[in-house]
Amino acid sequence: MSSQSASAHPSATDDVVELCRDLLRIDTSNTGDTETSAGERVAAEYVAEKLAEVGVEAHVRESAPGRTNLVARIPGTDPSRGALLVHGHLDVVPADASEWSVHPFSGEISDGYLWGRGAIDMKDFDAMVLAVVRNWQRTGVRPPRDLVLAFTADEEAGGEYGAHFLVDRHPDLLDGCTEAIGEVGGFSYSVNSDLRLYLIETAEKGLEWLRLHARGRPGHGSMVHDDNAVTALAEAVARVGRHRFPIVLTPTVQAFLEEVSEAIGIELDPTDPELAIAKLGPIANLIGATVRNTANPTRLAAGYKDNVIPSRASATIDCRSLPGQAEIFLEQLREVVGPDIEIEHIQRQPALETSFDGDLVNAMGAALRAEDPGARPVPYMLSGGTDAKAFAKLGIRCFGFAPLRLPADLNFSALFHGIDERVPVDGLQFGVRVLDRFLRQS
Ligand SMILES: [Zn+2]
Repeated sequence: MSSQSASAHPSATDDVVELCRDLLRIDTSNTGDTETSAGERVAAEYVAEKLAEVGVEAHVRESAPGRTNLVARIPGTDPSRGALLVHGHLDVVPADASEWSVHPFSGEISDGYLWGRGAIDMKDFDAMVLAVVRNWQRTGVRPPRDLVLAFTADEEAGGEYGAHFLVDRHPDLLDGCTEAIGEVGGFSYSVNSDLRLYLIETAEKGLEWLRLHARGRPGHGSMVHDDNAVTALAEAVARVGRHRFPIVLTPTVQAFLEEVSEAIGIELDPTDPELAIAKLGPIANLIGATVRNTANPTRLAAGYKDNVIPSRASATIDCRSLPGQAEIFLEQLREVVGPDIEIEHIQRQPALETSFDGDLVNAMGAALRAEDPGARPVPYMLSGGTDAKAFAKLGIRCFGFAPLRLPADLNFSALFHGIDERVPVDGLQFGVRVLDRFLRQS
């Protein structure tokens, strides 16, 4: 693929840098409010144009004005096989330019990095997919099975206007997809110069947003009062916030910890895996939340005047449960909260977990090793959520595999939604080569 430089068209490894740069220059900030989420349509039109240039027709679907999603199908040589869905979101979280070293939407290249909001989350992968497909179309390569490309809106606010909209309203566009690859997996974690673990996402924690409601007797703030809703709520919130739920190792996390302990040469105590996790350095944050259910208070609301005791008070709790743990977790949480607090369910998305085996997983490993002889793929669980949660509703087996080789000293997890988000240019080009090999063998 990168040997196509003799032709008039750019190689995929050159094309990817231009494509990613162009996408980074389109401000697709998702504020969570459709009125102010302006760039998604511009980005989707850009992708449609880049696909049209090589003869690929895209289906564009808007869930609301400007909330644009795009799906395209590349026919494979064996139509009897299930299709592979390759998905990436086009929106990004907002960025405050005053905090950055470069303007977050300038797409600057310096120090070997391409800088900008979305550089790793996830316009890098969007650009890789486009670069590979454009190169294939120009050189007559066809994938072994149908590839369905989905570029989505609204991932950063839960995907209601994006992946969930496609799945609920236009499942025909995803017809026949049996497996999928998308974000937050396939990146490297350097153990030493000869060994890099590539974390492949095979599981995601579930999401449960709850609101706690306390009720009491309203009254005057100057008087003796033993039934205060604010006090009751505050006590419950403090208990939840300080509570540590028990450690539960799912197959994915168990496999990850075994692989990583062996690779790094540390002792793994299954009853206290956090000792081993603490030694992982920058990815400890990413992994630490996957050994137990978590519940973090995020919002408080009560009262309307300084000297009035209100009759009610409420708080929001962001809960993340492990695969298979949702019901047990709610029972445990109910005990921590106590009997007098009402629990309201605001939003729920179930956890995902698949096994780390089969032809697709083998193809990931082979493609990584062909481009990096020191590569060792390991499964891991993401504590957050992605569009995979939507696609899994159609029974699609989802993986996080957006290949990227990273410098050993880069704090990758801090770049997600972080200041000075950037992607190494050579890592991006590595990703294109791996993705090309993988998709040819998938
Ligand atoms: Zn993302």
